[in-house]
Amino acid sequence: MAVLVAGCGSAPNLWGDSFAPAPASNVIDTVAETPSSTSMPTMPPTATFTPAPTFTPTLTPTPSRANIERVLIISYDGMRPDAIELAPMPNLMELAKNGAYSYTSARTIDYPATSPSHASMLSGLCMEDHGVIYNRYFMYMGYSKGVDVFDLAHEAGMKTVMIVSKDKLRQLAEPETTDVFEIAYGEPAVTRAAVAQIDEGFDLMFIHFAGGDNRGHKYGWMSGEYMKVLREGDEGLGAIIVALKENGLFDTTLFIVTADHGGHDKNHIGLVIEDYRIPWIAYGPGVVQKELTLPMYTMDTGVTAAYALNLPLQPDWDGIPVYEAFGELQLRVHDGYPCKT
Ligand SMILES: [Zn+2]
Repeated sequence: MAVLVAGCGSAPNLWGDSFAPAPASNVIDTVAETPSSTSMPTMPPTATFTPAPTFTPTLTPTPSRANIERVLIISYDGMRPDAIELAPMPNLMELAKNGAYSYTSARTIDYPATSPSHASMLSGLCMEDHGVIYNRYFMYMGYSKGVDVFDLAHEAGMKTVMIVSKDKLRQLAEPETTDVFEIAYGEPAVTRAAVAQIDEGFDLMFIHFAGGDNRGHKYGWMSGEYMKVLREGDEGLGAIIVALKENGLFDTTLFIVTADHGGHDKNHIGLVIEDYRIPWIAYGPGVVQKELTLPMYTMDTGVTAAYALNLPLQPDWDGIPVYEAFGELQLRVHDGYPCKT
């Protein structure tokens, strides 16, 4: 199963929300110099403090993919792969370091816009097939077409959850197949909503953090404000991880963390590769530690989630499961861009 998670801590954080670095017991060896106190350093908001990762690497032998009970897909809107370490995003970096990741070989569709790209991410289909061709909330256009992982999971009796930061993402899946659909604005609110859903339990969850895109359009991609909100989103990831652990769900959850597009200057309209290139990070049972180098497309995300949940792969899907992430033979590979548009 696949799970997307977000959460929030109880201590005040450096940026005025409720996130907090992990307590010392969760701090990994690489940050052993971190003070063992659980109190927060009292640094001004402008300090360049790097929060400690809340993630603790699995010390037991990696279980197999069969141990996946839920899937969590997290999309950081507009997050460029090369921003992850620059921001930095220590919790996400820990997932990548202990999982399978691509910072260079994954890209989105030729129209690198939020709604069409997210529809491809979750449906496994090219834009011409899912029909979400506008980056606007045109409800008369209907929901993303085709059989997607949310349809399949709901049909199989699984609990499906979507927490998004833009109301236009309602078009990604029909209300009938999303047991929970919430819109939350701002990284802390998204995190709180995600943690509440983790406490309730889920089988497939999609979490959407919008801050990177919002700040990119306003201040510029890779600007200080852009990096700052990515750090806030990473604090959210840390809280999500803590919530999963507290509920005994972490060890059986597959994470897929990605983005809908990148960006440059103050836009992402497809002028340069930085607009198209996306990060793709998997962590969870059966996922091997490696850098993924085969060509990947955003359609692979929903397809891989379905594969991990043992749901029937659809013959018309344009995405391919990322078998390589599980150390399995990559049965099929993309032979060039799979879409017409
Ligand atoms: Zn976007």
